[in-house]
Parts: sequence; structure tokens; C-alpha cells
Amino acid sequence: MDAQRRRRLEMAAGAGVCASAAFMAWAVRGRSSGVFGPSVWRGSRDRRAIALTFDDGPSEQTPEILKILNSYSVPATFFQCGANVERLPDVARAVHDAGHAIGNHSFSHPMFSFERQRFIERELRLTQEIIEHRTGTRPVWFRAPYGVRWFGLSRVQRRLRLTGVTWTVIGYDWKLKADAVVRRLAGGVSNGAILCLHDGRELRANPDIGVTLESVRRLVPLLLDQGYKFETIGRLICPNN
Ligand SMILES: [Zn+2]
Repeated sequence: MDAQRRRRLEMAAGAGVCASAAFMAWAVRGRSSGVFGPSVWRGSRDRRAIALTFDDGPSEQTPEILKILNSYSVPATFFQCGANVERLPDVARAVHDAGHAIGNHSFSHPMFSFERQRFIERELRLTQEIIEHRTGTRPVWFRAPYGVRWFGLSRVQRRLRLTGVTWTVIGYDWKLKADAVVRRLAGGVSNGAILCLHDGRELRANPDIGVTLESVRRLVPLLLDQGYKFETIGRLICPNN
């Protein structure tokens, strides 16, 4: 093989590696990826409806979120961690009793990449049982911690009858200031959008979610003024059910 042909082959192989790494990055973390299990990331563009979602709760501050939502009669979906539900069962129950939907966000908020299917199943199954026991409702929606999906998840979701949910736009409310969070979400919203915020901070007890509270206080009236109707994930994705 001449040197030029070898170099061309090496470059092609390199491009292949890059392409498959990019594909894996999207498959694992891409908001529209369904590679590791059925997943939704937005509702229909035909209706002026959106879904507010909160991850990592329940926390000691979740009741403050409930107060704001209640003052506008706005429903939301809370993706709760089993460990947090065990810590604050009354708060988890209050979320359900206020008419919001509850989804599964794993037990201990691990990164699922490179984990075995058995581990993933234990995290999700345990959380299903804890949420059902503490709130009386069994989740049908699942959001992966850090948005990371992995091999084996698809089978686990099928067994537990869970559909994955990512987001259309995420607020980064754990690291940005409220101004920036509101700007991001208000700028990224459109018909059918799923907005992602956090009423906890992973498994931390008594987390500071001041930015989230401030963002929700400003965002909800802003989006209502723009004519958006807030729905739970179930209603947004399956409006006829
Ligand atoms: Zn999370």
C-alpha cells in the first residue's frame, strides 16, 4: 500500500471513530435520543400547551414551589428520587395531593453510564415501590439522572412500563442566576415545550433552591400572559387520555 493511500485510510478510520463517539454522546445525553429506551422530549406543536417539570425532589423547599403553582392553579410534574421520598414522605404526598404528577428520577441519583442493567433496574424498581407506597400513585414517566441513558435501560423501562422524558429546554437553575434561568426558559419555550427545573439538588438535605423559586415566581405569570396552558406530562403527551 502506498503512503498516500494508507494515510487516506487512517483518516477515514479516524473520522469513523469521531462519528461513533458523537453518536454515542447524542444517544446517551441527547434530548431527542430514544436509543436506550422510548423517550419524549416535547409535546405537539399544534397546541399552546407546555409542561413544567421539577427534578431531584422532594426537598424541604418543595412546599414553596407548591405554593407558587397553587396561586396560579398551575399543574406540574415532579421527578422524585426514591431516597428523597423516603426522607420526606409527607412532602412527596403533598405534591400528589395538590394534583401534580409524580415521575421516577431513580433512587440515589447515580450516573447510569457503564452501570449494569441489574443496578439500573434496582434503582428504578425501588423508586417505583417507594413512590407508590408513600403517595399512592405509581409513576409511568421516568427522567434519567443527569439525562444519561445507558444499555439495559430500555428493557428496564419496558418491565416497569416507564416512558422516558427529557426536556425541550433546561433552566440550569442549579448554577445560573434567576435572570439567566428565566431568559433561557422564556427564550426556549414554544408550543409543546417541556421545561426542566429542580425542586431539590440531587440528594442534598435542605438545599438552597432560591434561584428556582425566584425563576418560577417570574416565569409562570410571564408564560400565562403569553397564552400558554400548563399541563402535566401525561396530558401534554396524550391530550386525549
Ligand atoms: Zn436530577
